[in-house]
Amino acid sequence: MKVRFADDLGFCYGVKRAVEMAEAAAGSSGGTIYCLGPLIHNPQEVERLRSKGIRPVEGLAQVIAGTLVLRTHGMPRDVVAEALRRGLPVVDATCPHVRAAQQAAKSLSEQGYRVLIVGDPEHPEVIATSSWAGNGCAVIDSVEKAQALPATDRAGVVAQTTVRRELFEAVVEVLRGRVPDLKVEETICEATARRQEATRRLAGCCDLLLVVGGRGSANTRRLAEIAREEGCETHLIESAEELRREWFMGKSSVGMTAGTSTPEWVIKEVAGKVEDIEKNVSHEEAPQASEPEQKAGGQPEAAAAPETLASPEPEVKAEAEAVPEAPAPEPPSPEQPAAQAGPAEGQMYDEALKVVKSGDLIKGKVVSVDENGVMVDVGYKSEGVIPPNEVSRKQAPLTEIVHPGDEIMVYVLSVDSQEGVLKLSKRRADEEVAWKSLQEALDEGRIIEAEVIQEVKGGLVVDVGLRGFVPASQIERGYVSNLSRYVGKQVRLKVLELDRSKNRVVLSQRVVLEEERERLRTETWSSISEGQVRRGVVKGLTDFGAFVDIGGVDGLLHVSELSWGRVSHPSEVVKEGDQIDVMVLRIDREKGKISLGLKQVLPDPWSTVSTKYPVDAVVQGKVTRLAPFGAFVQLEPGVEGLIHISEMSHQRVAKPDEVLSPGQAVKVKVLKSKPDERRISLSLKAVEDDTEKARADEYIAEQKALDNPTLGDMFGDILGEARGDKETKEDTGE
Ligand code: SF4
Repeated sequence: MKVRFADDLGFCYGVKRAVEMAEAAAGSSGGTIYCLGPLIHNPQEVERLRSKGIRPVEGLAQVIAGTLVLRTHGMPRDVVAEALRRGLPVVDATCPHVRAAQQAAKSLSEQGYRVLIVGDPEHPEVIATSSWAGNGCAVIDSVEKAQALPATDRAGVVAQTTVRRELFEAVVEVLRGRVPDLKVEETICEATARRQEATRRLAGCCDLLLVVGGRGSANTRRLAEIAREEGCETHLIESAEELRREWFMGKSSVGMTAGTSTPEWVIKEVAGKVEDIEKNVSHEEAPQASEPEQKAGGQPEAAAAPETLASPEPEVKAEAEAVPEAPAPEPPSPEQPAAQAGPAEGQMYDEALKVVKSGDLIKGKVVSVDENGVMVDVGYKSEGVIPPNEVSRKQAPLTEIVHPGDEIMVYVLSVDSQEGVLKLSKRRADEEVAWKSLQEALDEGRIIEAEVIQEVKGGLVVDVGLRGFVPASQIERGYVSNLSRYVGKQVRLKVLELDRSKNRVVLSQRVVLEEERERLRTETWSSISEGQVRRGVVKGLTDFGAFVDIGGVDGLLHVSELSWGRVSHPSEVVKEGDQIDVMVLRIDREKGKISLGLKQVLPDPWSTVSTKYPVDAVVQGKVTRLAPFGAFVQLEPGVEGLIHISEMSHQRVAKPDEVLSPGQAVKVKVLKSKPDERRISLSLKAVEDDTEKARADEYIAEQKALDNPTLGDMFGDILGEARGDKETKEDTGE
C-alpha cells in the first residue's frame, strides 16, 4: 500500500504567521494574549496555544487586561477601534491577503463605488471586510443573488480570499451585464486554490483519501468535498485517534491532505499512525497482496473495491472505533509538538517534503510584499518567506524592489523540518544567478551591461548582481581623470577575472572599446578609397592640423586642408569632439597613414569670383601679408589677390611696407582675374587714378555749368525789380 501526500497541504503563510505572532506576543508580554474567536480553525492547535497563554474569547468585554491579537481573518473596524480606545496593546496578525481585500474594499468605497463582496456572509473574514466597505455594501454568495441585485450604476467587487474561483467568476460575469461601471478587484488567495487542486489530483489516483483538519474549518471541509467529487473514499479527521484500521483494508493507495489551518505536528502524528496501520495491514494481506495493476490512465487499481465511497463525515464519526494495533499517542507538548511523533513517525511525510531542500535555487511568484518581508509561492506546500534583509543588496523600500505577481528566483536558506516552512533569499539567488551568468560571460567572452554604482579608490564599482570592480586603467582606452562622471551610467563590460572564494569580480570596459575599435579599423581599411567623403570625429588638435577618427583609424586633416581661406591654427575651424565630413585625399597603406581634407567638401569660393569681382570693379579687401614684390589682399575667405608693388602708388615704392601693412583695410581695383589659376591682380594706384579722374570730371562739369549761365543767373536783379514794379502797380491799381 502506498501512501501519498498532496503537493500542497497544511499551514498556509497567513496562518503560520498568525501563530508565530501570537506566540511571540505571549513570549514577550508574559501576560494573557486574547483572541476574539479561535486564532485558527483547528481545535488541537487552539488548545496548544491556550497552554501558552493565548486565549480565545467571545468579545472585547472579556478582555480584562492583556494583549489582543487580531486573527488571520481580520476583525471588524469598530472592534479594533474600540480596543485601541481602551488602550489595549494590539498585535495585528491579519493575513496580508485579507488585509489587501480590506484595503481594496475601503479604496473602492472612497472612490464612490458600491462594494460587493463575493463570499459567505457569515464568515468572519467577510464580516470584517464589509466593515471597511462603506454604506451599501452587499455580500453575494450565489449567482442568483447577483442576478437579483437591485440596479446600480457603479459597483466594485472584491472576493473573500478563500472563495471558489468559479463562483467569483460567475458572479462577476453576471454583474458585468448589469452594472455599467464595474470595477473588479481579484483578491482570491491562491494558497487555498492550490491545496484544493492538489487534493483533486491526489483523489484521482488514490483509493482512500484522508483529509486532516478541523471540522470547523470551511477550507478543510471543502477539501473533503472535492475528494468525494472525484469519487474517492474520503475521511475527514481531526486527529490520529480517529483513524480506523478497516478503512485501509484492501486499499492499494492512500492519500493524505490537510487544510490551511492544520498544523504540521498533527499531520505528522496522523502520518505516523498511517504508517503503522499500513505495515500491519500489508503484513496481514501479504499472501494475496501484490502490486496493483496500473489502469490505462496510470491510476492504480484498487486491490479490492472500497466498501465505503464518499462517505460523509457524520457516517465516519458513527463508525468510529479504536485501532488496537496502533494506540493513539499522547498529544505533543506545546514546547516540542513534533518530538512526540518519534523518530520514525511521519517519515513518509518527511520524505514528501524533500522536494525542496536547503541550497536549492528555484523559481517563485511573489504573493505579497510588506515591511516584514516578501511572501513567495514556489509551488511548495506553503509559501516561503524572504526576510527583509534577504530581498536585495539595494537600499530601497521592498515595495520598490519586488511586486506581487513578479516571477523571481529564490535560494532556499532553510526548510523548517518540523513546520515545513521555507526561508528564502532573493539576494542570495541573485548572487547565485549572477555568478553563473558571469562565469558564462567569461567563458564565452560575452559583453554584459551594468550600472556604475560607486566611485572607489582606484576604480569603479558596478552592479552585476554582485559588486564588480572596474580598475581605473580598464575604463577607457586612454587615461581618465574624473571617475565620478561614470556613476549612475550604464557601461558595457567584459569579465577579466572571477574568483568566488575571494568574492572577486574584475571587469573592463577598455577591452570592449579596444575590440570594437579593432573591428572598425579592419572594416575601414578594407573599404576606404581616395576621394571618399567620410564622417569622422575630431580626436585632437596640433599646430599642423587635426586628427580625425574615421572609424577605428585616425586620419590627418592638415591645417592647409581645413579651409579655402588662410588658417593659422586648426582651432580656428574645428574643436575636439566635432563630427565633420572629410574627404579622403591620400592613403598610404604601408605606413598606415591617411590624409584628409575638409575644404574639399565645402563650396569653392573661386567658382564665383568672375561674377563677384569682375575686371575694373573696385572692391574692399584686407591686407593679409606682404612680400618683396607686393601685398596679398583677401577679398573673402579663400580668395586672395595680389597688389604688385608697381600698382601700389604713383610715387616710387621701394618696399611694400612703405605703403601698406598686414591687417590694413584697402580699396582696390581688379585689373585682371584668372579664377582657374586662382589669381587676381589688384591695384591701389588705379583706384587713385579713378579718384583723380572722378574729381576732374566733377570739376569739368562744374566749369561747364559756369560757362553756360541761365537767365536767372544773369538777370536776377533785373527780373527782381521788374517783378517789384508790377506788384506795386497792381497794388495801386494803376
Ligand atoms: Fe491568508 Fe490565504 Fe492563508 Fe487565508 S488561506 S490565511 S488568505 S494565506
